[in-house]
Amino acid sequence: SKFPNLYLVIPGIVRRRTSSTMVANLKFDDRVLVVTGAGAGLGRAYALLFAERGASVVVNDLGGSRDGAGKSSNAADVVVNEIKSKGGKAVADYNSVVDGDKIIQTALENFGRVDVVVNNAGILRDKSFARISDTDWNLIFDVHVKGSFKTTQAAWPHFKKQNFGRIIMTSSAAGLYGNFGQANYSAAKMALVGLSNTLAIEGAKNNIHCNVIVPTAASRLTEDILPPDFFAELKPELIAPVVVWLCHESCDENGSIIDSAVGWASKCQIVRSKGSIIRHSITDRVTPEAVQNNWRVITDMDKASNPGSIQEATAGLMEHLETMKRNA
Ligand code: NAD
Repeated sequence: SKFPNLYLVIPGIVRRRTSSTMVANLKFDDRVLVVTGAGAGLGRAYALLFAERGASVVVNDLGGSRDGAGKSSNAADVVVNEIKSKGGKAVADYNSVVDGDKIIQTALENFGRVDVVVNNAGILRDKSFARISDTDWNLIFDVHVKGSFKTTQAAWPHFKKQNFGRIIMTSSAAGLYGNFGQANYSAAKMALVGLSNTLAIEGAKNNIHCNVIVPTAASRLTEDILPPDFFAELKPELIAPVVVWLCHESCDENGSIIDSAVGWASKCQIVRSKGSIIRHSITDRVTPEAVQNNWRVITDMDKASNPGSIQEATAGLMEHLETMKRNA
């Protein structure tokens, strides 16, 4: 099969025999959801599924073009009408995510609370690195990073007060792995991983969870990037259930990066090689030659592991020091 890992997924996210025969018990009846950039693509698919599961949804969309120019109320209105025509609860919001506090205000004014923020709004300004202008850089960071910051920060005190909150940040394979012509976008998308990592830690004691989705889907952002046959199969609806699960009160996942497309989902981690001590005694200096001589071991990923926290990541340093002291 094209996706051999299709069923090697996180327990509980995607299982071998799902949907049709299962009871739809993951409900959001009393929950108020904010989905940014919900007027099209992935955000629209998320909003529709959340509404189908009983949520009241703020459908935010600025309605601009793919590179961030212009605005229109049409994008959000179409999705709100779609939700309402199916008997769901939704309200449109046309603010830019850089004014995220206004989007949260829309949730509070219309539904009296906010439980989940899905930071999804996004634009592209692809250029090879040498040609990226300040505007290309700043607009990408405004929409993706500042937008996620402003929207999430405005919801944060409400999450804390009610001891519940779910946050999704949207990263990209272009951020995790790099992609030609997307230096600004890659940098912004990785910034969101860092933001999520720390929000997951700061929110944990208040039952506020933050996770990152790494989607691959057919949308106007990818129509000229992906091969047409593949594009047709990449339905945003196939990713929405993963996001919906991550935002449910019964989901314990926190601080994770979840990659998903075509009905496949997996968890990504930063891994670190076992490493190598490059001075043997506390009295030794570290020389570039010592680094060179140890390079094969330093970069040997065979026994790589994921340090689960900054404490775990630095815990070994004391041990290394002790070893070097003993060798003195
Ligand atoms: P899309 O263009 O269909 O949807 C993005 C929506 O965000 C649009 O409706 C747009 O009007 C809205 N938006 C843009 N700027 C906004 C702003 N300042 N305020 C409010 N709304 C704004 O694209 P999509 O592919 O559905 O992308 C959704 C998210 O997923 C983006 O963050 C994108 O970077 C990310 N992503 C997508 C893919 C993919 O394969 N489609 C891959 C990786 C990451």
